[in-house]
Amino acid sequence: MKYISTRQQEQTNIKTAILKGLADDGGLFMPEYIPQLDSEFFENLPNLSLQEIGFRVAKEFLGESISDNNLKEIIDEVLNFEIPAVKISDNIYSLELFHGPTMAFKDVGARFMARMMSYFSEGKPMKVIAATSGDTGSAVASGFFGVPGIEVYILYPKGKVSPLQEKQLTTWGGNIKALEIDGTFDDCQALAKQILSDEELNLKFTLTSANSINIARLIPQSFYYFWAFAQLQKFGKPIVFSVPSGNFGNLTAGLFAKKMGLPVYQFIASTNENDVVPKFLETGNYQAKPSKQTISNAMDVGNPSNFERMKSLFNNDVSEFKRYIESYSFSDEETKLAMRKVKDEFDYTLDPHGAVAYLGIEKYSEKSNEDFVGVLLETAHPAKFVEVVEDVLKEKVIIPEKLEAFNKKDKQSVEFSADFESVKNYLIEEK
Ligand SMILES: *Cc1c(COP(=O)(O)O)cnc(C)c1O
Repeated sequence: MKYISTRQQEQTNIKTAILKGLADDGGLFMPEYIPQLDSEFFENLPNLSLQEIGFRVAKEFLGESISDNNLKEIIDEVLNFEIPAVKISDNIYSLELFHGPTMAFKDVGARFMARMMSYFSEGKPMKVIAATSGDTGSAVASGFFGVPGIEVYILYPKGKVSPLQEKQLTTWGGNIKALEIDGTFDDCQALAKQILSDEELNLKFTLTSANSINIARLIPQSFYYFWAFAQLQKFGKPIVFSVPSGNFGNLTAGLFAKKMGLPVYQFIASTNENDVVPKFLETGNYQAKPSKQTISNAMDVGNPSNFERMKSLFNNDVSEFKRYIESYSFSDEETKLAMRKVKDEFDYTLDPHGAVAYLGIEKYSEKSNEDFVGVLLETAHPAKFVEVVEDVLKEKVIIPEKLEAFNKKDKQSVEFSADFESVKNYLIEEK
């Protein structure tokens, strides 16, 4: 299988696509075609474990670039937590993607990417650079923690992440270094780009970036769409997924699953007030905008990076987009009401992102005549957004032991002003 940039100027194999992340022409890597799974796989699906599904699906994308045994080992390590489809109401299920080490769905992609990078770099020392505004950094840190040969540098904006998020970034030790930058997230991202393109640093080290555009973060996110079917197809009803979307990586992975043959009835792309994609589906015009701050802040994206991948999947055809995806945008007020309602009526606690997805299912059911099972992707544990959830539900949220453990550890960070030369010197002198 070849991997081709969405801007068509570059073509390579999966190993290079994963180690590079971004193509030289600025595009994102896509498989040259979407592989098909056979009917035997689908007939057998309800009997397969999450790990077996992961192996079968990943194998299609990775081909002979990795042996079956190595791939099985990696999949078993990555998927060592549950992804249950939990009943909210008669026809609505929550696919809980937050049972991994940092309690957000980004664990799935980051853990797989970390192991694939380590496998393909063949033990050669490598420095991974990641700028973060919060959740991504900890999933990346957790994914790479203890991986031999790899040093991770996380750049985060001082005073601009939540106290719990900061602990999740700064308490790893070992091969994870937290660089606390006196600046904004944009400064961190600019510094990361400067590091990655600096000639002297690139001569000294193998550098790579761990941001969300890496194809290795997308592939494993398709596994759990199959897994949801394995759990829910027994009801014999059409299955509709509502995906709370920001950069649209999660949704794009769902589209991969459907194009591989999974009979998904409908995708709903649910967004907060950052509504570039719902507007695009309404008007046919794609208009990037500056992002707005909301309570579902992991989806505050004004120019979703995976839009380019979706365009290539649909050959730039707006009517194809519309055939697969319904898209709706919701305000913070609506999101809070949904959290309240689901708690009162069904005794289930949604985080703000999951609540946006819940609203997408409600809105879709108003226009659909079909008796369907709606699956919302619950992308984070409510305790990650404890301030909002407690404020809305007026009750205490229990912090799971896994998150509490971060709170108990001591912060270790190295402080910098937003100045490239001092960060560069640190990287050189550090080892
Ligand atoms: C990143 C994130 C999202 C958005 O996922 P995309 O793949 O960027 O669309 C939704 N919810 C949570 C909790 C996230 O961390």
